[in-house]
Amino acid sequence: MYNLVVFGAPGSGKGTQSARLIDEYGLYHISTGELLRDHIARGTELGKVADTYISKGNLIPDDLMIEILENTLNTNPDTAKGVIFDGFPRTIEQAEALNKMLAKRGSKVHAVIGLEVADAELIDRLLKRGLESGRSDDNIDTINQRLQVYNKQTAPLRDYYISEGKYHGVKGSGSIDDIFRAIKDELHGTEE
Ligand code: AMP
Repeated sequence: MYNLVVFGAPGSGKGTQSARLIDEYGLYHISTGELLRDHIARGTELGKVADTYISKGNLIPDDLMIEILENTLNTNPDTAKGVIFDGFPRTIEQAEALNKMLAKRGSKVHAVIGLEVADAELIDRLLKRGLESGRSDDNIDTINQRLQVYNKQTAPLRDYYISEGKYHGVKGSGSIDDIFRAIKDELHGTEE
C-alpha cells in the first residue's frame, strides 16, 4: 500500500498531476472536490450542504469532511492498494485524522507532493478554467476567497508535513510533462 497526498493551492494542478500519477502507479484516486461536486450534481442532501460552502469558497467543516473521507475508504476495497489523496487534507485536523485512519489500516502517508505556484499564476489559471469548467467557484470573488482560505487554513500543512519529513515541494509552473517528471524524481525512494 502506497499513499500519496497531492497538496497545493487551488489551480496549482493537483487534478492534472493526480491523473498522470494514477496512470503511472495504478493507485486509487480520491478527489474530495470531485466527490462533493458529484453530490451537488446528483442533488443529494450532502450535495445541498456542500454547495453552501463551495459556492462561497469556504471549506466544508472538518467533522463532515473527515466522515466522508472515512466512508470512501471503507466502501471502496480498491483503496487498499494505495490512494492518491487530491484536495485532502486541507487542515491540520484533517491531516491528523488521516494519519489515524491509515494507522488503523496498518498504513501511513508515504509522501506529500506540494505543487508550488505563484498567486498571480493561480488566479490566471482559475479564471481561464472558469470559462469552461462551469464551476460555481471559478469566478474572481470566490477565487480570492479560496486563496485566502488556503493561506490561512491549508498552507500551515506544509510545515506540518515538513516536520513529519514527508513534504516534497515541486515547482508547479512549466509544462505538465516537466512537472510530472519532477514529481517522479521526488517520489523515488519514498515507498518504504
Ligand atoms: P477542489 O476541487 O479540491 O478545488 O475543491 C473544491 C471545493 O470543495 C473547495 O473549495 C472546498 O469548498 C471543498 N473541499 C474539497 N476538499 C475539501 C476538504 N478536504 N476540506 C474541506 N473542503 C473541501
